Amino acid sequence: MGIIQAFFNWREGKYQEHLEAMYEEDKCPQCHGKGYHVYPPVGEFIPYNHIFDCAGCEGLGSYSKRDSTIV
Ligand SMILES: [Zn+2]
Repeated sequence: MGIIQAFFNWREGKYQEHLEAMYEEDKCPQCHGKGYHVYPPVGEFIPYNHIFDCAGCEGLGSYSKRDSTIV
């Protein structure tokens, strides 16, 4: 196994841990349970932010909702 592959495996493992943690808390892993995404990120030199409903959970922020949308 090369170092690059090892890195990708590690990153995939971290992602799985993230998914499981979000599942236990019933939070959407895409928006961390907030139900929306802010763009650009807070801190940019822009006087306002755009807020989008999360496509993964349709703005609800729950993991179970996300599951039902992936059929
Ligand atoms: Zn979401």
